[in-house]
Amino acid sequence: MIYFDNNATTSLHPEVLKEMLPFLTTQQGNPASNHTFGRKAHTAIEEAREKVADSVNAHPSQVIFTSSGTESNNTIINGIAKAYSNSHFGYSSIEHPCVSEPIKSLAYQGFKTTEIPVNSEGMFNVADVNEETKKSLTFLSVMMANNETGVIQNIAEIADWAKKNDIQFHTDAVQALGKIKVDFEGLDIDAMTISSHKIYGPQGIAALIVNKKIDLFPHMQGGGQERGLRSGTENIAAIIGFGKACERSSQNIVTFNEKVKHLNAILEKALFDLGAVIFCKKSHRLSNTTFFSFKNIDGSTLLTALDRKGFAIASGSACSSKSSEPSHVLLSMGVDLDLAQGALRVSLGLESTENEINDFIETLKDEVNRLKQLTAVAA
Ligand code: PLP
Repeated sequence: MIYFDNNATTSLHPEVLKEMLPFLTTQQGNPASNHTFGRKAHTAIEEAREKVADSVNAHPSQVIFTSSGTESNNTIINGIAKAYSNSHFGYSSIEHPCVSEPIKSLAYQGFKTTEIPVNSEGMFNVADVNEETKKSLTFLSVMMANNETGVIQNIAEIADWAKKNDIQFHTDAVQALGKIKVDFEGLDIDAMTISSHKIYGPQGIAALIVNKKIDLFPHMQGGGQERGLRSGTENIAAIIGFGKACERSSQNIVTFNEKVKHLNAILEKALFDLGAVIFCKKSHRLSNTTFFSFKNIDGSTLLTALDRKGFAIASGSACSSKSSEPSHVLLSMGVDLDLAQGALRVSLGLESTENEINDFIETLKDEVNRLKQLTAVAA
């Protein structure tokens, strides 16, 4: 099998596993315990916290470990709703459901919420926030890079605009981490989400990076771990792995990009020659991500055919569920329903090779031609 679904999850890097192993075997100990085992566990967690903070230019005290990007996004949104009862929540129309769904739920609790559209190239533009919304908005969430299209937003400009308008600003940087430079302090933002399993770390561990001036009501209460914002005994081995994955990936951004950029260029040229529509071609995108569609070819049929031939890629909505719904990201950009229904995503990773890309292109050609003939016969 050839794996081209790295935006969904990545493999565990051997160096990461090596650092985790002692904490899964001989190095037991609750970091809250006042004995040598406990103190060692506590020290290891704080060292990992420093590595995570360094990788995004934040202070270690700003790093709150959670179980997932999903939990981090829910923590900031629901934590703000409980701490600031008059909040008005804004979010871009292309957010991952773990941002948009908690905000939509708040609407049922009486909070004001506003979905803000992106343009046809998947870009969020502050000029598209209407005056009335701008006056009352108190919180805004716009993702740094989109999981489907790979489009990278101008977060510096949005954060600056939010600051000038006294709006708390959060960015979901889950897909950006390890692929582009992420600078929490430099961007001067209030809160940010990152997740380990997108950067060759273990699943089930992530962080919310949050500026201390933001009041947050904890959604998990108990022993007071993680500055009282996320009680529960820490997942030590996973935290150690996340720390190592952050250290590794921030040191390797340039080499990663050089490699996948070259492979993606080969892929996109072949897709173009085959007549595919590549979404957000004009936008600045992650170099590992290509989101495309063939007119009159059903995406899930092509995905299944490619899977049978040994290639793992994703359909538009695959990041969040197994649903066959068309991508909400493409629909919100104004893409036709048929084209959105056919959308497929290739997301390359560290292990991807030119031979794999060439094999994929050959198989894709065969399958696309076969499906085109079938459609022609049916018509
Ligand atoms: N945000 C984005 C942009 C994502 O792509 C994902 C996962 O695909 C998440 C959040 C959720 O992260 P996790 O899988 O750690 O819950």
